[in-house]
Amino acid sequence: MVFKVKFRGVRGSYPTAKFSHLKYGGNTSCVEVNVRDRLIILDAGTGIIELGENLTRDHILSGNSTDERTPIKATILISHIHQDHIQGLPFFSPIFIKTTELEVFGPDTGKEKLKDTLSTLLFDKGFPVSLEEIQGNININSYSQRQILVIKENNEHVLINAGDIKSQDFNENDIIITSYKTTAHPKNGSLCIKIQHRGKTLVYATDKECYVGSDKKFIEFAYGCDLLIHDAQYTHQDYISPIMPKQGYGHSTFNMAIETAKLAKAKKLYFFHYDPNYDDNILDMLDKDFQNMTVDFNFSKENLEIAL
Ligand SMILES: [Zn+2]
Ligand SMILES: [Zn+2]
Repeated sequence: MVFKVKFRGVRGSYPTAKFSHLKYGGNTSCVEVNVRDRLIILDAGTGIIELGENLTRDHILSGNSTDERTPIKATILISHIHQDHIQGLPFFSPIFIKTTELEVFGPDTGKEKLKDTLSTLLFDKGFPVSLEEIQGNININSYSQRQILVIKENNEHVLINAGDIKSQDFNENDIIITSYKTTAHPKNGSLCIKIQHRGKTLVYATDKECYVGSDKKFIEFAYGCDLLIHDAQYTHQDYISPIMPKQGYGHSTFNMAIETAKLAKAKKLYFFHYDPNYDDNILDMLDKDFQNMTVDFNFSKENLEIAL
């Protein structure tokens, strides 16, 4: 096993605290990925909060005092700064432990650095504690699709410009992270993230609307991946609804996710980022409707774990 993946939040747009949504889950975007000896967290929607509780519990159980305990270390990759991808971060309890070391990477918005955006949006104005007052060590780094992020064997994080790749930059124990920017998501796009390690590939593509006839560059980016986690916010009927069409909202339909997985020859597809209006009954019905598809598809659910 190279990757251990656990879905922590699979809902799009906003969290849904409803009994009718418990089977698939109501927390917003967050996927926990354990690869080599590194914890990588894809997005920081409300799903990250329970992950934080689990990490903090294990940390407390690891020793009698803060200095004796095993520090919490993780890499958080942010696809974009819409609320459902960042709103859990101030409530991620490890940030309040002084030995915690977090490396956060995500895209800048326009001319503003990611660090400044998160600091203002999440902490200074909307939270009682500012980013500077947080006890844990949080490094917030700007990351773009022109860069490759390599997590070396000693967990050093190295950013390489895509144009400067030389074979000696990598060794087989590296975790290699690349991204693809989808511009169809208003207003600043969203980064699709690819993680590669020891011949296995995981692609996380959220808040991504497909084009008519598919997104050829994305297909190339995701080609042959072992696991594709893909935006499936809408049914086809809602996407083309004559009353309130969802075209142009920056999200895909279940059918688009299937088409993309087919063209990219993804070995496994997991639907992700469900519309908050779709309760368990609707998602169960869709699951039945798609049964005769040739693609190996699955519905992601909160707390579902898979191994690659
Ligand atoms: Zn979203
Ligand atoms: Zn978004």
